[in-house]
Parts: sequence; C-alpha cells; structure tokens
Amino acid sequence: MNLPKSGETIIIGKSIDGREIALSAYGSGALPILLMGGVHGDESEGFLLVERFQEALAQGELDAGDAVTLYVVPRMNPDGCANLRRTNGRNVDLNRNLPTKDWSGEFKNVRYYPGAAAGSEPESELTLQLVDAIQPAAIFSMHSYENAMINFNGDCEDLATAMSAHNKLPPKGDIGYPTPGSLGTYTGWERAIPTITLEILRGQEPDAVWKQHAQGLLAGIQYYTNHPRPAAK
Ligand SMILES: [Zn+2]
Repeated sequence: MNLPKSGETIIIGKSIDGREIALSAYGSGALPILLMGGVHGDESEGFLLVERFQEALAQGELDAGDAVTLYVVPRMNPDGCANLRRTNGRNVDLNRNLPTKDWSGEFKNVRYYPGAAAGSEPESELTLQLVDAIQPAAIFSMHSYENAMINFNGDCEDLATAMSAHNKLPPKGDIGYPTPGSLGTYTGWERAIPTITLEILRGQEPDAVWKQHAQGLLAGIQYYTNHPRPAAK
C-alpha cells in the first residue's frame, strides 16, 4: 500500500458496497501514528470527532508536532457510517473479523457477526495493509459505548492514563467481555502495538465530544514523542 504525503488524502480501497475509503497524512515526523474512526458505523460520536480533528489540523488550530506523522482514516466502514449501522455492507462486525489467534465464527447476537472467515472483509484486509505499511507506534480507534472508557490493549496503561488526565474517562485494559477478531487483540495484544479504543459516551453531542476529547486525543498522539515505547514482541 502506498501512503500519502503530509497534507495529502488518497483512496486506499473500497468497501463491500463500493464506497471509497480515504487515508490522509498530517506532518512528516519520525513517529508514525494511526487514527481511525467509523469501524462501527452507528457510533457517529467517533467518526465525527475524527473528522473534526482533521479539520482542526488542516486549519492549523491543532498541531500534532514535528515529531509525528499522523495517518487518519475517518471512516473505516463507510457503508456502516452512511447508514448509521454497526456492521459493514455484508452485516459483518469489522471489529470481530480481524484474523486474531482466538478468532471464532461463533456469535450470540447478529450485531457481532464475525463474518464467514477471519479477515474475510475488504475493510479488514485494508486495515491489515494499513498496519503493515504504516508500522504505527500507536493506534487510536474511535468508538462509542454506554460505558465510556479508554480501553487499552498492549503494554500502554501509561498512555491511557495520560489521555485520562484530559478526558477524565477511566483507563481499562479489559472492556468486560471477550473480543476475538478485534483491533485491540490483533494489534495490541498480538503485535505489541499500543492500541487505544476510545469509547466515547454514546449519544453525546458533537460539541461536547470535541470539548471532552480533542486535547486528550492530541496528548495521546504525541505521547511517545517524549515517553519510552513498550518493547516489541
Ligand atoms: Zn464500537
């Protein structure tokens, strides 16, 4: 996969229903960071925050700093986002479809349908290619949930705690139920890439989300520019 240069946006592929998936880059520092939104299309709190963050970067209202190259995919599941639906165009929960060691085809609720096979969806394939191409020092994926929290996967409780100082949400290493096929398991636990799944309060208005989360997200993106990174596996 080719990566955009700072200030550029490229199309990295298409969803099941043929919608384009865009990737933008900001800055050209040595530390690559990946920010994603819209994996679950009914969690608009997340993808609207990412898009507003991009606007602020483009306008110069926010600056990720000289040490970071920030890669952003605002809508990883554009079919879901267009229909405010959790799943992709084939009703697959993309955060259960990644090829983790514990991937399973079983599901208790259709909301969590993991797909016909691990990594079966084009959006999942693009996620794997993104991680491969970027080799991110950390990944931030924006979701929403009734129990707002900073879910961290990998050896990065310190990163989650640093974000918590801004957004006042609790850092949690365990969301309370198993998530085979999730990004946190795939990149965080299995590849030792610090992975933050930010669970914004479900139903919170966009202005309130921005007020609560913009600075914490920025602090998270910049965290490893002046803190030690966990050892690679
Ligand atoms: Zn979600």
